[in-house]
Amino acid sequence: MSQFDHTRLFLPGPVEVRREVLEAQNQWMIGHRGPEFGDLFARLQAKLRRAFFTESRVYVSGSSGSGLWEGASRCGLRDDRKALHLTGGAFGERWAKISAANGKSVDCVEVPWGQAHTPEMVAAALERDSYDAVCAVHNETSTGVTNPIKDISAVVNAHPDTLFFVDSVSGFLGTELRVDDWGIDIALTSSQKAFALPPGLAFAAVSDRLLERAREIPQRGYYFDFLALEESLLKNNTPSTPPVSLLYAADAQLEAVLQEGLKARWARHRTMRDATHDWALSRGFGLYAQAGYRSDTVTTVENQRNIDVDAMDAFMRKEIGFAMDRGYGKIKGKTFRLPHMGDVTMDMLRDVLSGIDAFMAEATPPSPGQK
Ligand SMILES: *Cc1c(COP(=O)(O)O)cnc(C)c1O
Repeated sequence: MSQFDHTRLFLPGPVEVRREVLEAQNQWMIGHRGPEFGDLFARLQAKLRRAFFTESRVYVSGSSGSGLWEGASRCGLRDDRKALHLTGGAFGERWAKISAANGKSVDCVEVPWGQAHTPEMVAAALERDSYDAVCAVHNETSTGVTNPIKDISAVVNAHPDTLFFVDSVSGFLGTELRVDDWGIDIALTSSQKAFALPPGLAFAAVSDRLLERAREIPQRGYYFDFLALEESLLKNNTPSTPPVSLLYAADAQLEAVLQEGLKARWARHRTMRDATHDWALSRGFGLYAQAGYRSDTVTTVENQRNIDVDAMDAFMRKEIGFAMDRGYGKIKGKTFRLPHMGDVTMDMLRDVLSGIDAFMAEATPPSPGQK
């Protein structure tokens, strides 16, 4: 038996969920065609619009975020046009694959992992060819890069026929995102990242322009058809059975988030990021993401000290009670990620960082003459 009541997740998704949020799920079931559900949906909708800074609408989907990637590609890209995907990490690459898997023509602006996309790169691509939409990742969770979405949006919006699609799965509620002001046609997210909910829900703020586009596309699929989601949303409902317990959790969490204040929440993430950078650099590690674009919600640490990330995770689970990230995909081990998203606090972060210090002290005993 572990000395801890549970292993806390220090992962960039799924993240640790507060007990109050877990307990909010523990309510009697309600029928989703009854009045109680309409009230819950409407309450949630009002809070979601505030959180996304939109006056349009926010769809709620009983799926992970990938489902809404597919929905965006199917409902927003016409078959005889092309999409421009901005890739430079595992998630941007996967979204491009999803568009292609749904029969769409895809061009990519590819940057090396760890680099950001600049508005100039996007402007140049939009000069060369015309696109139905530009698909960008706000916060590339694999590399720890935050792309300059506001500035890229200004470039895209100079092309009236090109929509702007944004994955903010690990950015939303952790770093600034303003859907209406920035001119974003879809901003989608999942529950289990910076939202700090259990997995199983996805959300998307969608513009009128994107809905008009969807009306031109006959084959939008079924489960993620935005026109069906819209028809139900107007009745405070969902087309198929929603995960009601998770919606209770989302309602409770949004209440807490709005209580904290979005700006205060973004600032808390920034402060934890800075503390994480200071720690990593002072311990002889590097920062994988390009300077100037380092994420407020997750730091990808360049493992210059070559610590054994599997041993580090095992040590942290046993001695400190945290499950740790060991790097994503092709940069696993070469990097590891320190998430400072969701409801992570400075105290929790300090416990984790001092735990890694203890691991390193044990793994590499000081050489003679060194204190
Ligand atoms: C985790 C993640 C996804 C995938 O979301 P799921 O909810 O696992 O489908 C997409 N984009 C980014 C940036 C992510 O971090």
